[in-house]
Amino acid sequence: MQSFVSEVAAVPGGENIYRCIQCGVCSGGCPAAAEMEYPPRRMIALIRAGARDMVLSSSSVWHCLSCYTCTVRCPRGVKPTELAHALESLAVKDGYNVKGTTTPAVYRSFVDSIKSYGRVHEFGMMARYYLKTSPLAVLRIWKVGLGLVLHRRLPLRARK
Ligand code: SF4
Repeated sequence: MQSFVSEVAAVPGGENIYRCIQCGVCSGGCPAAAEMEYPPRRMIALIRAGARDMVLSSSSVWHCLSCYTCTVRCPRGVKPTELAHALESLAVKDGYNVKGTTTPAVYRSFVDSIKSYGRVHEFGMMARYYLKTSPLAVLRIWKVGLGLVLHRRLPLRARK
């Protein structure tokens, strides 16, 4: 049976995981580390330990901001940002229901909008996102949304 680390290494973005020397530079510079249950260095250690469910059900990688600080600083060229996205792909492919983040819903709404119109329809994308996550949260941002609509910055009708 394929080990978890070799499974991750086979996903585009995960190829360099074997190079990691666990120095912790990535976690030390990550601006989102405080939000993560498992910051990048620890995530890599868990992958090597075969903790598949722990890793793929965790919201940690979904907090990645794609700032690429870790990728620039890593002395071994591991590219932890790409690794985070590889893990997101695996989690979605295997149907993990990740708790503690609404990022998967943002991605899904974005992709659905592109598939429907060939471009992002911002109003529709945000409507789908809030309907899927927390419809009442719209009450907190309706003034901003109305201002954008009135200034023609948020078209209500989608164009293909
Ligand atoms: Fe591993 Fe690179 Fe992070 Fe160091 S900076 S722990 S080598 S991924």
